[in-house]
Amino acid sequence: MHSKRKQRTIFSFFGPPGAGKGTLATHCHSELGFTVLSTGDLCRKEIARGSVLGRQFEEQLNQGKLISDELIAEMIKKQLLEKVESYSTSIILDGFPRTARQASYFLHMIKMQFPEVQFKVIFFDIPADEVMRRLSNRLVCSNQDCQAVYSLISLAPQKEGLCDKCGKALIKRHDDEIDVIRKRLDLYPSYEKELLDYYKSVNQPVELLTINAKSAAKVFECFSNFLGQETRACCEHP
Ligand code: ADP
Repeated sequence: MHSKRKQRTIFSFFGPPGAGKGTLATHCHSELGFTVLSTGDLCRKEIARGSVLGRQFEEQLNQGKLISDELIAEMIKKQLLEKVESYSTSIILDGFPRTARQASYFLHMIKMQFPEVQFKVIFFDIPADEVMRRLSNRLVCSNQDCQAVYSLISLAPQKEGLCDKCGKALIKRHDDEIDVIRKRLDLYPSYEKELLDYYKSVNQPVELLTINAKSAAKVFECFSNFLGQETRACCEHP
């Protein structure tokens, strides 16, 4: 068990909403067997459960705001602590850390709880107009255990309005309505700057993944090249 933990890498996928973090994470899961923890998916599951926490999350999500740093960080910590021994592969944190406070909390947590883990940040660089085009054409599966993502531009479902994976109805996320997208995009640059400045201040390297008009397959190819060069060990079976 100890040797498995030795080889583990935790990747943080960070970038604007709609940059394709979830799509690349899904690819890495199906092609490389990586484990994916998406804070957005975890929040939506909590909302669907109708818990007290879920009701708080819903209000924030529907307004395009971020959930509090403490709640998000605790949620990730719980997930990692509960399951880390069973994770035999690299882990992708999709959408976390998203603020400097989350990053500071998380780096401290790694140091204390998982000192053998390598942490790598992948920053998705994409122009704002491309983000708007993508988000306004995004559909997601309404089944909270699936949450597969489709695009009317580049990844339409085989049967209109239905998920290819589980057959449930596809919906538009409430926070993908134009006015909420605008709020999310307005808020984003300040988090981005604060987070990148923080990583710089603690000498945490950040790998840039230039998205622009690349297809999902091309983005996966670029990421795979990066893995091949930098982190070959984390792709090998432990
Ligand atoms: P996107 O990356 O397109 O914003 P996500 O599904 O990752 O979509 O996140 C949806 C929403 O969930 C965010 O707008 C925010 O309200 C909440 N959320 C997800 N991750 C975090 C995080 N690390 N910190 C705070 N809020 C988060």
